[in-house]
Amino acid sequence: MYDVNRVREDFPILTRQIYGRPLVYLDNGATTQKPRQVVEAMVDEYYNVNANVHRGVHFLSQQATELHEASRETVRRFINARSTAEIVFTRGTTESINLLAFSLGEAMVKEGDEVVVSAMEHHSNIVPWQMMCERKGAQLRVIPMTDEGELQLEALEGLLTKRTRIVCCTQVSNVLGTVNPVKEVVRIAHEKGVPVLVDGAQSVPHMPVDVQDLDCEFFAFSGHKVYGPTGVGVLYGKEEWLDKLPPYQGGGEMIKNVTFEKTTYNELPYKFEAGTPDYVATHALAKALDYVSGLGMEKIETHEQELTRYALERLQAIEGMHIFGAAQQRDAVISFQVGNIHHLDMGTLLDRLGIAVRTGHHCAEPLMRRLGIEGTVRASFGLYNTKSEVDALAEGIERVRRMF
Ligand code: PLP
Repeated sequence: MYDVNRVREDFPILTRQIYGRPLVYLDNGATTQKPRQVVEAMVDEYYNVNANVHRGVHFLSQQATELHEASRETVRRFINARSTAEIVFTRGTTESINLLAFSLGEAMVKEGDEVVVSAMEHHSNIVPWQMMCERKGAQLRVIPMTDEGELQLEALEGLLTKRTRIVCCTQVSNVLGTVNPVKEVVRIAHEKGVPVLVDGAQSVPHMPVDVQDLDCEFFAFSGHKVYGPTGVGVLYGKEEWLDKLPPYQGGGEMIKNVTFEKTTYNELPYKFEAGTPDYVATHALAKALDYVSGLGMEKIETHEQELTRYALERLQAIEGMHIFGAAQQRDAVISFQVGNIHHLDMGTLLDRLGIAVRTGHHCAEPLMRRLGIEGTVRASFGLYNTKSEVDALAEGIERVRRMF
């Protein structure tokens, strides 16, 4: 049994009142709230352990290093990577993708080469590739989608050429909630010998992820979207691929030997981790992953799927409701507009009722253009949301609708 009321007790913020009403937090796609277990781990480390990692002989440094490296093992287990050498700590999904776009660009992209992204990517899985393409004289190609918000995989085969260097695709759309068949994307790309990056920012918090099963070369996600701290994320890469790529940033930790004539680089994953890592955040991220694993990712997924089905039912019953995206496989994200009420007005008025949703283009302007709109209201659910919160959302929307 998944006891959502028991789970909510771990999140002190959920007892807050906003404008005198109980907080209904439905902005989990942007960031999730943190359980006590995560915050307390951070406080405990700062109060009792803090010392810089890797270079110290003293007790605290060794203890901090052990926590940091144990966190890498927790991440490895969580996404089922083969080795901790394949787990690079970054500041988040955005930095993971920038790292990869830079390093892969340096190692293997030449003028006239191509990079494939999908029509529903977040800016962070478009712009770093675009920047790299500009630098290298390469071209960006786009996998189109249907009006329902599903990728047109038959078009992907046609997009792959001898010049394609990588395919980049999100596992779950942060706007439409579409769960993309990334395993199939990987299979199609591999037939042409092309590596694949999966953006897992919106999948890791909601479903079990197994990178060996997906067989993707690279996978990126953020700590703060999976109940962990801000400022930490992960780039997973198959060892044989990370080995081929040059470092992203230079500095301490990423080197083996430095002379003024020449520097040699450290082994994986440290080659990609210049400077002092946020070791308190990596430790707290491991606590967050332990926390969701303790609840059970399958149970979280079932709870959120049920909540999403219920929310779709309630929202669809509202007059003038338009929900964007109708994919067969969908996750805990619902984007909508009601009549001609501007998304900003809807968001602002819902806020007055204590309901936190996100409004705007959700960092996916090309997708907005594809849908022919400027923005949406987005409700996104997390492991602590309840049906009565969905009711509050539906009633809130209805109230705003009547006002207009
Ligand atoms: N990719 C997707 C699909 C996202 O939804 C987001 C954030 O909303 C990102 C990437 C960027 O994540 P971050 O801002 O944590 O780097």
